[in-house]
Amino acid sequence: MKLSGITPSGHVQLGNYLGAIRTWAAEGGSGDMYFISDLHAMTTTHNPAKLRSLATEQLAILIAAGIPEETVCVQSDLAKELGALTWILECTCSYGEAARMIQFKEKADGQTGVRLSLLTYPVLMVADILLQGAAEVPVGEDQRQHVELARTLARRFNSTYGDVFTVPKAVTPVTGARVRDLSDPTRKMSKSTRDAAGVVFLLDEPDLVRRKIRRAVTDGDSVIAYEPETRPGLANLLDILAACTDSDPRDLVDAHATYGALKEAVADAVVETLRPLREKTTALLEDPAELTRVRKAGAARATERGEHRLQSALRLIGGC
Ligand code: ATP
Ligand code: MG
Repeated sequence: MKLSGITPSGHVQLGNYLGAIRTWAAEGGSGDMYFISDLHAMTTTHNPAKLRSLATEQLAILIAAGIPEETVCVQSDLAKELGALTWILECTCSYGEAARMIQFKEKADGQTGVRLSLLTYPVLMVADILLQGAAEVPVGEDQRQHVELARTLARRFNSTYGDVFTVPKAVTPVTGARVRDLSDPTRKMSKSTRDAAGVVFLLDEPDLVRRKIRRAVTDGDSVIAYEPETRPGLANLLDILAACTDSDPRDLVDAHATYGALKEAVADAVVETLRPLREKTTALLEDPAELTRVRKAGAARATERGEHRLQSALRLIGGC
């Protein structure tokens, strides 16, 4: 079983869809789990109402994208189970192990009033993984250390108190396109970027999508070529067009005479790719009863799958 997550740290953007969500919908097995990690979005300054609405929006998008509803779950719906398991795992983890996490050091560096949860959230992530008994966790480089911690804590618990947890391993995710920011192609498109000019959000109106793509930063050259290293803005447009039309970016080089024509083709392709997704998501967001049904069913399945591990672990470590 594989477990993948997405944090509601902002509106879902084109890169999340082309690089991850679309692949999840295509490759996900019925036993896998896609997790909206809203508790992880509380470790730095956040707005509660906004977070709640972003989590609901993500749930609607994952379902609209065709991910089987029985594999989707919102993390805070498992707050009781995860809270309890996090405590057990914190009693299995040393302070030094948590403080060594690179993500913590990077995010806490130079900040005042750092939330304790920023230090402990990797342990919550370990609980996410171990509660469900996930064997494989597809993660990028930045999260590998946390999966390593999950392996360490699972082994330590199993050998100290008794065999409860599957020891997970980090696997390289099957990824689609890597999408760059349209106004700064040296960085990747991200949902938490403050300046939204270069970020296409999945629920942006078609006119806005077109405007953002027309304003995409390219370069002074007028010849269209696919050179990601030296001409990242132009390569990004070709990559996006290729991902939306299921083709190779190199094959698209000769099809457009000018940057203007290429941008129009990219805008058309993105608008058409997002149209059905946007329509389905909007319809779901207008049907809160249906979303609540999906959400409750996902939570019930995840709880059922994990409950026995939590109970065994609690008993073995000396609780009830
Ligand atoms: P944040 O700014 O909060 O880190 P993000 O947009 O980077 O947000 P994540 O929640 O970190 O999104 O990642 C969710 C999934 O989307 C991951 O599988 C990640 O690899 C993928 N992803 C994120 N950004 C891109 C991108 N620009 N291109 C392709 N895939 C992406
Ligand atoms: Mg990210």
